[in-house]
Amino acid sequence: MKKKFRTVIRKLDEKRPNQNIIKNASDLIRRGEIIAFPTETVYGLGGNALDPSSVSKIFEIKGRPPDNPLIIHVADMKMLKTLVIQIPPKAHRIIKKFWPGPITLILKKSNLVPEITTGGLNTVAVRIPRNKIALALIKKSGLPIAAPSANISGRPSPTSAIHVKDDLAGKIKLILDGGSTTIGIESTVIDMTQRIPVILRPGGISKESIEDEIGKICFHDSLLSNGSKKTRIHRSPGMKYQHYSPKAKVMLVEGVENHVKKRIIQLTEKLEGEGKKVTIMTTSKSLKVNPEKIQYMGRTLETVARNLFANLRQADKDKIDVIIVQGVQYKKSGFAIMNRLKKAASTRISAQSKSN
Ligand code: AMP
Ligand code: MG
Repeated sequence: MKKKFRTVIRKLDEKRPNQNIIKNASDLIRRGEIIAFPTETVYGLGGNALDPSSVSKIFEIKGRPPDNPLIIHVADMKMLKTLVIQIPPKAHRIIKKFWPGPITLILKKSNLVPEITTGGLNTVAVRIPRNKIALALIKKSGLPIAAPSANISGRPSPTSAIHVKDDLAGKIKLILDGGSTTIGIESTVIDMTQRIPVILRPGGISKESIEDEIGKICFHDSLLSNGSKKTRIHRSPGMKYQHYSPKAKVMLVEGVENHVKKRIIQLTEKLEGEGKKVTIMTTSKSLKVNPEKIQYMGRTLETVARNLFANLRQADKDKIDVIIVQGVQYKKSGFAIMNRLKKAASTRISAQSKSN
């Protein structure tokens, strides 16, 4: 897509979003334009979800495949009810507990939602975001806003206005800058049209916390298996596409912590011996390598999630050839973090014992 706009970045205070800026942004949405705005997960690229022409612009700007449907962001239950034909009791319980927040529900869609928004499916993905700028924008425009992440398809999701600018300058008129996003990874997507709800994408709310609320749920098979891509059934169309890839090659090292650390050091030496520029994304403060090579991801899973995409993007700015990433545990938000890292990685290494 050609660059045709001068992209303006407007800073807002999340606690008290400037009403003039919100009015200006919502006018653009009402006129069928596309803008970028912060949510608590990542920055979104938003347009009127009910207008096929707006939605087609979103797909075009991102270079997103048309069969990968969009999440619709709403401000309240009244708006939600116009988009769906039914809200099952378990969905009500999730809404009560986690909204506004980083969990997206798949529900049966109403006729109001154009097919282009849902990629031709008879279901729709919806959520109420928690970020006050996003909420003010939806309320002021009076429209449900379809918004995928505001990056070029395949790239790491943007967690700051600068990331959006790096990908989309010239392609959109306005970026609302609310600072760095707090969660840092995308919402959990859960299919509520099944008797036992199915997580299609792990994200900001963990399986454990959802189960505490509504009892048994499951992960979609493709999230559990490492099986061949051909054999997977893609209930969520987005599952089949390449994601989160920086320009640098990503190598993911998982396993027992001490062995992982040793393997990371060996790999770094080997790659540097081949003349490669290497960075290490790690949760360990005791890795025995030159600190300049390290991008520390933080101590808790929450901070790792918050820093993840920014770390991947920073490596590209630093013209890194290979990013070696230390895996995290597959529990709570660690499951969602590993989901992103597995998709970003072209090589996975299991360091379970001294011999491998
Ligand atoms: P993104 O907009 O990139 O954050 O991704 C949204 C995710 O939700 C993608 O993985 C989509 O495939 C998925 N999604 C959106 N709508 C639906 C739907 N109606 N049914 C199943 N998955 C959906
Ligand atoms: Mg995305």
